[in-house]
This record gives sequence, C-alpha cells and structure tokens, in this order.
Amino acid sequence: MSFLEYAPAPESTAVLNLKNSYGLFIDGEFVDGSGTPFNTISPATEKHIAEIASASDDDVDRAVKAARRAYEKTWSRMSGRDRGKYLFRIARLVQERARELAVAESLDNGKPIKESRDVDVPLVASWFFYYAGWADKLDHAGLGANPRALGVAGQIIPWNFPLLMLAWKIAPALAAGNTVVLKPAETTPLTALIFAEILQQADLPAGVVNIVTGAGATGSTLVRHPDVDKVAFTGSTGVGRDIARAVAGTKKKVTLELGGKAANIVFDDAPIDQAVEGIVNGIFFNQGHVCCAGSRLLVQESIHDEVVDRLKSRLSTLRLGDPLDKNTDIGAINSAAQLARIRELSDIGEAEGAERWTADCAIPEQGFWFAPTIFTGVEASHRIARDEVFGPVLSVLTFRTPAEAVAKANNTPYGLSAGIWSDKGSRILAVADRLRAGVIWANTFNRFDPSSPFGGYKESGYGREGGRQGLTAYLKGATA
Ligand code: NAD
Repeated sequence: MSFLEYAPAPESTAVLNLKNSYGLFIDGEFVDGSGTPFNTISPATEKHIAEIASASDDDVDRAVKAARRAYEKTWSRMSGRDRGKYLFRIARLVQERARELAVAESLDNGKPIKESRDVDVPLVASWFFYYAGWADKLDHAGLGANPRALGVAGQIIPWNFPLLMLAWKIAPALAAGNTVVLKPAETTPLTALIFAEILQQADLPAGVVNIVTGAGATGSTLVRHPDVDKVAFTGSTGVGRDIARAVAGTKKKVTLELGGKAANIVFDDAPIDQAVEGIVNGIFFNQGHVCCAGSRLLVQESIHDEVVDRLKSRLSTLRLGDPLDKNTDIGAINSAAQLARIRELSDIGEAEGAERWTADCAIPEQGFWFAPTIFTGVEASHRIARDEVFGPVLSVLTFRTPAEAVAKANNTPYGLSAGIWSDKGSRILAVADRLRAGVIWANTFNRFDPSSPFGGYKESGYGREGGRQGLTAYLKGATA
C-alpha cells in the first residue's frame, strides 16, 4: 500500500448491545410474533445479524388494539405540553445513543458510517426536536381552529433510510396526538427495534408506539385493518397504488411518498466544481438508494464534455467498501434483489445504446456491491432515463435552452425533486417555477430540514412530510 492511500479506519461495533433475536414491540413490551421469523443480515458481508419476529394478522390486530387503547386512555387525554416532553426526551435519547444507532444502521443497511453518523442520526434527532416544539402549539399553527388528532396511524417505511423514515413518520404523528403502529422494511428492521428500547427508556406510555416487523404481507394487513384511521406509506409507486386502492372508499386518510426520477439541471454559467460535487452527492449519496436522487443529469450541451470529464475523475477518487470504515464513500447495495435490479436496468441501458462508464474500484468478494456508473448519450426514451434505478447509476442527457431543460426535466411520470445549477438567481427562479417537482434545490442537492415540507407530484405520491404542513396529515380537517 502506498503511503498516500487511506489506512482502514473501521468504526468499532463494541458500542452495540444486540440481542440474538427480536420480538415485536406491542403495548410497551417485546413479545413473540406468530409468523415465521426471518434473519436480518449485513449486506456488506452477508453475515447474520439477528433473528427477527414476523407479525401475523393476529399480531397486527393486537398492535392496533394496543394503539387504540393507548389513544383513548392516555395519549388523546394528555396535554400537548406533556406530549412534547416525551418527544423532547426521545430526541435527547437518540442523541445520547447516536453512535450506537449509526453503527447499527450501517451494519444492517450497508450505508457508509459517515452518512449514518453525520446525516441520518442527527436528522432523526432534529425531527423529534422539531415536532416536540409543535406539540403544544397546534391551536396556533394556522391549521384551523381546534385541530384534533385522527386516532391510530398505520405507518410503513422502506429500507433506504430506516431510522430517518421512522422519525419522519412517528414524530409528527405523536406531536399531533395520534398513536402509531409502524412496520419497518424487512431488510432493515434493526434500528426500529433499538428505537423501541429508547421508547422504553423514555417511559413512553405503553401502546403509544407499536412496531410490527415482517414482509409486505404484514404491511398489507396493517393498511387494511378497519381500526386504522390514517395510513402513511413511503416506498415504491407500485405498492403505493395497491395501498391507494385498498383504502379507497374508507374513512382512512392517506399520505403516499413514492418513487422519483429527479432531473439535476446544470447550466453553462454554473460554478462547475460545486456542480460536480452536487451531482456526486445527488446520485451517489447512500449508493443512490434515495427517492429524490438526482438520477438524470441534464447538462447544457456546451459544457457536457467538461462536466463529464470532471465527474469521471471525481468518481475515480471515491472509496467503495466496508460501510463501517470512516473513509468509505460508497457502501453496500442493500440486498441481492436490489443489486439484481440495478444490474438489469444497467444492462438494458447498454443494450438500448447508451454508453456505459464505470469507476475502476475493487469490489469486495462477499456482499452486494455496484461501482459508481455513468451513462452518456442517453435518450429521453431509454429505460435508464425513465425507470427508477435506485442505485449508483447516473444518466446524462443534454439540452440547449432553458425551455428544453424544463421540457426534458418534466418528461417523467414522477415529480419528487429537482436541482438547478446556475450563477443567475433570476434564471433559477424562472426555471424552478416551471418544474413539476415537490422539492427543488438550487446550487445544492439532497439537503433536508425538519421545517421544510417534502413530497411529490404525479406518481411520486401525495401529501407532505416535514414542516408545519407535515402536521396536517395527522389532524382532522386541517389545511396548511
Ligand atoms: P417497497 O414499496 O417494496 O416497500 C416499502 C415498504 O412497504 C416495506 O416495508 C415493505 O415491506 C412494505 N410493503 C411491501 N408490499 C406491501 C403491500 N402490498 N402493502 C403494504 N406494505 C407493503 O419499497 P422499497 O423497495 O422498500 O423502497 C424503495 C422505494 O421507496 C423506492 O421506490 C423509493 O423511491 C421509495 N422511497 C420514497 C421516499 C419518499 O419520501 N418519497 C423515501 C424513501 C424511499
């Protein structure tokens, strides 16, 4: 090894205090599940981490009943001020156990420790702090007179930001006075179960939050349970459609945060070095497992070659490998199934005529890995320009005029996010105004803040999470 190379700097797993097996978290206790248990593994090594209980229909029913009891007997009767105190306590405990949560998240999900440590877990704490502050101010939030909770919320989350998506769901629901049954994704249940321990530590009244682990069938049962008042789902557009059908014609209120295929638009007057960093952060952050990832780079034709060349040299410096190593930039792909999908769509991209370039990096022998990849010469009709790859794969398209950039950016069934890079504020505002996307970043990408609402247009779903607007999804008759 040359003296200029990075020495391994692995984060210690000694901070973890994992159990061999985890039950369901119902009514404040860990209990056995009656479904067939499953294993959660590390995607970087394929090694077993723990056995996880699977919730049957009866278990889901038990969890919903516990949430209903807690709603009627405790949580709906508690003052907003007291609910806020519990949320503040949870936020502080997340901060106290931040290192442990970050290590567990990287182990179970495969994301680099520097991301779980510096992005995911701090944002989780900030989400609880932010909504803790709203709990006693609902009457003054401009959401209508006397806003009231809905009741029991059934919440289903994906595997790409397991703990952060949990925080996006649980914090506003509890602040607004609802109780919760949450189902984590089957490949990443670990941090939700450690979070359940935090709830015990915080003395949160039993049944206010229940966590049922299991596969899609468990989620489907939760969505269809007749005593659930609100369904909040983050995941794929296909499952989102199924959920929308299942709740149509019922009393249930729904928010769907679904897929995306964001355009990251770079104009010829953009600060190129910053734009290259923003493109890298936009699509290679979290291995591209990001619903709002900037997966379609729209670059003005005159600077295409310069941007692509600089991008390739920057990608050649990224370090792929052990997620627990503090130097790692690109971690493991979350599952064998997701790796197969990324490979399939990339092969289709090549077969359809786009030019594929892959960063030259050593791929570990065990685990699921995909090197950062760029496709140039992509046409708007190519599958890699239309389908969500949900991996470290960037499609590069060009444009000549702002109008063409807007037309190409909007030429997608999705509408979750977009980025604009330009030196001119007036151009940024004019283009942003015409983009059909819920979140638009200017001269930056993939920045999140609990006070800022997040959500999509078209097939990216409906409803907003985050900010004052995020409370409306959990209140009767509220409008932001
Ligand atoms: P997925 O839809 O397969 O699974 C998401 C969750 O839904 C999992 O917990 C899963 O067990 C559960 N589920 C599966 N089938 C179900 C059913 N029939 N009924 C109820 N629940 C069911 O998605 P995924 O592969 O885990 O996640 C990736 C997707 O999530 C991507 O499309 C991504 O864009 C999207 N996502 C969106 C956002 C957002 O805020 N818009 C954030 C993160 C991820």
